[in-house]
Amino acid sequence: MQQTIYKYCAVIGMDGMGNFNREAQTPRMDEIFKGGAVTYDALSMDPTISAENWGAMLLGMAPAVHGLTNAYISRYENTNPKLVTVFRRLHDVYPDAYYASVSHWNPINHGIVEHDIGVDLATADNDELLLPEIVKRVAKKPKFLFVQFDNIDGAGHHYGYGTPDHLARITRNDGLVGQVYDAYRDAGILDETLFLVIADHGGNGHGHGGYTDGEKYVFFGAAGKSVKPGTVGTMATVDIAAIVLYALGAPLPAYDKKGFSSQVPENLFTDCTLPYRVTVGAPSRVTTKPTPAIDGEGGLYRFFPQSEIKTALFFDDDLCDATGHCAYRAVNEPKFYTNGVYGSCGEFGTTGYAETADLRVGAGSFTLGVWLQASAAVNTDCLICATKDWPRRSDKGFALVQRPHNLRFLIADGDDCDDCVAPWPDEISGGWLHALVSVDRAEKTMTIYFDFERVGTWKLDDQYCGDIDTDAFVVGNDAGDRTANTALCPNLFRMDDLLVFGRAFTDADAAKLKAYYGV
Ligand SMILES: [Zn+2]
Repeated sequence: MQQTIYKYCAVIGMDGMGNFNREAQTPRMDEIFKGGAVTYDALSMDPTISAENWGAMLLGMAPAVHGLTNAYISRYENTNPKLVTVFRRLHDVYPDAYYASVSHWNPINHGIVEHDIGVDLATADNDELLLPEIVKRVAKKPKFLFVQFDNIDGAGHHYGYGTPDHLARITRNDGLVGQVYDAYRDAGILDETLFLVIADHGGNGHGHGGYTDGEKYVFFGAAGKSVKPGTVGTMATVDIAAIVLYALGAPLPAYDKKGFSSQVPENLFTDCTLPYRVTVGAPSRVTTKPTPAIDGEGGLYRFFPQSEIKTALFFDDDLCDATGHCAYRAVNEPKFYTNGVYGSCGEFGTTGYAETADLRVGAGSFTLGVWLQASAAVNTDCLICATKDWPRRSDKGFALVQRPHNLRFLIADGDDCDDCVAPWPDEISGGWLHALVSVDRAEKTMTIYFDFERVGTWKLDDQYCGDIDTDAFVVGNDAGDRTANTALCPNLFRMDDLLVFGRAFTDADAAKLKAYYGV
């Protein structure tokens, strides 16, 4: 049990600040967190949207679990007994304490914070008008105070994130944060308070919701008597709930990926020895190195002969096959993001897919290799690539599918199908997982590798060793019907470096590919 329990805790939310405060003048936060702990790499939950992230912070649940959206919380109150905020968890332990939530963007108070436990709710038309509402409530010594400032996000949308006007608004809000901090001092409770500042997301251009660095990395700062000075380890916005409960001595629910998945980050408190699991839900880049030219130094052809590679999609802002073998066309709009594994990655699902008529494997062996960001907690089947229709099992061809709990490879001859399934590892270092599926039709086996280690080998029946070519190789399609193309997959998922080799892989080949990536 921890030595230090705080009497009070404040979470000051800076909507849309991301980590842009690093580029802005912020004398007050600099002073407040001088001896405290900060990180500029806390991860906003995916998608980088307000309700998803304020919900994650107050509930300690990932967006895919709590399901709250801006539209939903604007309209509906939180009466779902499964969506328990920190306010209620604290109220269960300290029923007589005073709690306050002061939010410029009122949907937080309307649709996230519960209305039946007496939390003092307040809002105002702008952050300056919000300040006196906050100060008034700090004087009443709230056990837990939640604040959301909204004007930084407004400036980001209007002027562009990271622009001088956005940064100037951050500076103004820095002054407001300073005045809230002063109010704690004036109330005589600063020494007993854990004071936290965090952003829900950043922005890219004039918006947010994607997963570029500017959107996904946010600032987090902590000041308090047991805060370990320095840099906080890996953390995400969802971890706020655990930090608050831990600091105030309330019970911390057990970690549950499908429920309360909030954790106390390592290196935040001097007396906290809880382990921190870097989970599937905590994506980050593996490297920011650009993709090496395929025939250049460090390029793929230095590791595998040109003749063995049937296609190489690097998703570096286009759908070009680096081998030149296949011409891809975009159907709707696959999106492309920076910060893939090498160069940028492709984002698929709700936005579109890629298709080519040029890929052939015939009756030969082949291997599929791809980086997957398993972060997006998918709740349906996402087609990574396929030559067959996914829902119709027996249709000729193959399909590689990212599913909520596993990776599935399926091969069919037109009459029936065979498949192999590998469950996702519990923890994925860096949020990206490399998957290889090797189909050896001489040995009649299918083998799956995760992160270049063999997960399993399955027997492949004789009947699937013939020619299974179709006229379409589809990348990132919906889990529905590709010909009708009526329903795009509702989950966003991301992949990088989709490679098809015209032969089966051995463990040594997997190791060679690992060397190419330098991981
Ligand atoms: Zn927001």
